[in-house]
Amino acid sequence: MPEITWELFEQQVESCHLCPLYRGIQHKVPGQGDRNAPLMLIGEGPGQTEDEEGLAFVGAAGQLLTRMLGAVGLPRERVYICNVVKCRPPYNRVPTPEEAEACRIHLRMQTWLVRPKVILLLGNTAARNLLDPDIRITRDRGKWTERKGIWMMPTYHPSALLRDESKKPQAWEDMKSLRNKLTELGLYPDLYGKG
Ligand code: URA
Repeated sequence: MPEITWELFEQQVESCHLCPLYRGIQHKVPGQGDRNAPLMLIGEGPGQTEDEEGLAFVGAAGQLLTRMLGAVGLPRERVYICNVVKCRPPYNRVPTPEEAEACRIHLRMQTWLVRPKVILLLGNTAARNLLDPDIRITRDRGKWTERKGIWMMPTYHPSALLRDESKKPQAWEDMKSLRNKLTELGLYPDLYGKG
C-alpha cells in the first residue's frame, strides 16, 4: 500500500474516472483550506463557479458560508472545506448514491489527512453520506454525533439559506452551537487550542 499523502490524494482526484461525472466538468474541485485545521466543512458538490475555478464554495453559497464563519469568529482560511463529490454534477443536481459512493475513497483519504476534531455537514447530501442515510436536515440539524473521536453536526446548506431566508435563525443557532462545541474542546477562540 502506498503511503497516504496529500500528493497521492491530489493525483488520485485529478486522474479519477471512478464515476461518469468527470466527463462534463471543467475542473476537479478537491477542496481547500488549512490542511491542519481541527474543523472541516463538507458540502455536496461543486456548482458552476466552483467548476470554473477548481475551488470549493467560491460562488454565492460560498460567500454566505464565509460570512457565517466570520460571524462566529472563524476566519475561513483557518478551516478546511470540501465536498462529498469532487466533480460538478450536471445542472447542479444532487449526486447519485453511486457517485457519492465512488467518491468516498477521496473523502476518506482527505479526512484521514486533515484529522479534524469537528466536522460541520452542510445539507442533506453531506449528512446522509457521512452520518445516516435517513437524516432529514429540517428535523436533524443542530444535533451532535461523535464517531471515532470526531464530532459531527448537520446544518442547512448555505444554498438553502439563499433560497429561504426564514431558515437563517436556525442556521445561526447551529453556528453558535459549533462555537460552543469548539470551546468545549478547547479549540476556541484559537482553533489550535493555544488560548
Ligand atoms: N455547493 C456545494 O455543496 N459545494 C460547493 O463547493 C459549492 C456549492
